[in-house]
Amino acid sequence: MKVDMHVHTSKSDGRDSLHSMVEAAEARGLDLIAITDHGPGHGSGIDERQALETKKEAELLQPNYHVRILVGIEAEILPTGEVLLDSREGLDIVLASYHGASSVEAYYQAVLRAVTDPKVDVLAHHAWVIGGFEQAGEYDDVLIERMAAHGVAIEINSKHALPSWDFLIKCRDAGVKYTIGSDAHRAADVGSVAWAKNTARHIYGDKGLFLP
Ligand SMILES: [Zn+2]
Ligand SMILES: [Zn+2]
Repeated sequence: MKVDMHVHTSKSDGRDSLHSMVEAAEARGLDLIAITDHGPGHGSGIDERQALETKKEAELLQPNYHVRILVGIEAEILPTGEVLLDSREGLDIVLASYHGASSVEAYYQAVLRAVTDPKVDVLAHHAWVIGGFEQAGEYDDVLIERMAAHGVAIEINSKHALPSWDFLIKCRDAGVKYTIGSDAHRAADVGSVAWAKNTARHIYGDKGLFLP
């Protein structure tokens, strides 16, 4: 099954329209695409109402395509660990990600709480922050335990080549499912998931893909 479960449209900070993103997914033979524009609190984020408008547009497009179109959101994790989304009602998938952590400790403090929020399906681009940092083993073990307990999947993000194989092996062993995302911000990058697919195949084999 060919999937890309993390793409942005021009409604947030992507360059191309929903229609262009879906066309690109269809042309590349994808079976499933998830539209996940940035949510409230992000510099170019949209609100829940706008995401639901995208959902309606996607439902109108759907009969013309093989690729199944999901519509969700990439919600912001705040420094407190709160996930900035009033309601996920009507949305197919909710990614949560932390874009602005100031330190490894600040990142994990927030993310450890965020994955216990029942609105969250997937932790996106784990361990990516401006400047970057190595993943921290002692926090990662607790994080994976919590994700398993709360049924939160881990995103294998092709754009950032994250998370590490070590981390994903622990996720697999704990029963944490995965998603695959290009994090595409333009149609040309839809389905650019070679690294993620290859990683998933080696680590998860043919099991463990999270589907909402
Ligand atoms: Zn992001
Ligand atoms: Zn993104």
